Amino acid sequence: MFVMKFGGTSVTKPESVAAISKLVSARIKEQPVVVVSALSGITDLLVKLSHSAAGEVRDNLFTEINQKHDDWIDAIFSSNNTAYNEAHKIVDNYLSELAQLINDSSLISQLELHDSVVAFGEKISSALISYYLTQNGIQAQQLIATNCIITTNQFGGADFMDAATRKASKASILPLVKQGVVPVITGFIGANRAGQTTILGRGGSDYSAAIIGYAIQASEIQIWTDVNGVYSADPRVIKTAKLVKKLSYQEAAELAMFGAKVLHPRTIQPAVKLSIPVKVLNTFNLDNIGTIIEHAPDNTDGTIKSITWRKSAPLLNIYSANMFLSKGFLQKVFAILAKHDISVNLLSASEVSVSVTLDNIGKLNPALAELNKFAKTDYFEGFGTISLVGDSIMATPSLMQKVFNIFQAAKIRVQMLSYSASNINISLLVASDRIDEIVPVLHKEFIE
Ligand code: ADP
Ligand code: ASP
Ligand code: MG
Repeated sequence: MFVMKFGGTSVTKPESVAAISKLVSARIKEQPVVVVSALSGITDLLVKLSHSAAGEVRDNLFTEINQKHDDWIDAIFSSNNTAYNEAHKIVDNYLSELAQLINDSSLISQLELHDSVVAFGEKISSALISYYLTQNGIQAQQLIATNCIITTNQFGGADFMDAATRKASKASILPLVKQGVVPVITGFIGANRAGQTTILGRGGSDYSAAIIGYAIQASEIQIWTDVNGVYSADPRVIKTAKLVKKLSYQEAAELAMFGAKVLHPRTIQPAVKLSIPVKVLNTFNLDNIGTIIEHAPDNTDGTIKSITWRKSAPLLNIYSANMFLSKGFLQKVFAILAKHDISVNLLSASEVSVSVTLDNIGKLNPALAELNKFAKTDYFEGFGTISLVGDSIMATPSLMQKVFNIFQAAKIRVQMLSYSASNINISLLVASDRIDEIVPVLHKEFIE
């Protein structure tokens, strides 16, 4: 058994949809389990829909969502009348169900409604892809991940619960696989213990694939996307970026955490628990070998393997108001941040002050109010992070000097610096509007 996850572009374009069928057929004996994202652009529209009021805006969103699926059906089933009509029925039924959900929404909270609404993207795409595979002679069946992935209650960004998910995934997936059926599972979504639909955060289908791979003890997790694998920098921005053939789990996790959109930040977490290799592959270039992520590091790619950035990294500085009574200061600070759903990315601290960049701002104002009772706080926007990732960074002492020379020459101030405890990541906090100019310089110096 192995998992094949197909992202938004891969399930949308006719040539990659054909590739899905080809790839699944070629390895049918190895029992593939398919995970899919929504068609390109659908999740964004559903997010807007979930916030819309009844009226023209909402009607237009429905029309647009419908149109995108119609275009897909036109392109994929134009020469098969029966399939064309069947596919339309699938979409119509789901959109009626969605309209019903929104009309009855007064009964549920806005947060719950949001997750239930955005889940429709993956529900529709999994039904369409599953139907497409059966039309190509593959025994396939749609499976909604609310039956497989059991999550915490955090709507908008839930996490999976280990034992419950293993049990539910095995119970729902294995019987299909044993019958020779290929499950086509909705990425991105799960359900809490009460059965309410939750989502795993934007871009979460990668994480779904890894969770499912872990739960059913798959031999491999394949992330099929629209680029050849993980590159030395986002290949859409840095044209000279190089494909990185091998990454350690740690390197991949840090890259994803610090901005490489190609993998959801938490994808590596379940895979590493069972040492399941993760491959990043291109649905539009089937001959490419892609990137393999596994335990053994491989340092032939150079000291720095990849450069990644996040344009927004709000900075929060917190100073203890009473330097002499600062015992337990950090503990107090982090308890308050956690209580208000704020997660931290970079950190620089002493016993009396702490600077953190925020991964998400959670409930910022109540958190600041609570912190201000015993500390002084300063909050700044307009910063972003640049991260250099590679296994042998610490073993190369001259590297830091080079990095600082580059920033000095460009007259860019480094506001904060973090040498990660894992020894494989240097992250720098700089003004967001200088990131575009400095990344190509760093890439040229360290990678090209
Ligand atoms: P999918 O819909 O398949 O999940 P995403 O758009 O989420 O695809 O992720 C793939 C995109 O990630 C690529 O098109 C690329 O622009 C971007 N990306 C950012 N950083 C990297 C990187 N270091 N290597 C490869 N791709 C990257
Ligand atoms: N469709 C979801 C999103 O756009 C999940 C994913 O594509 O991974 O965020
Ligand atoms: Mg993605």
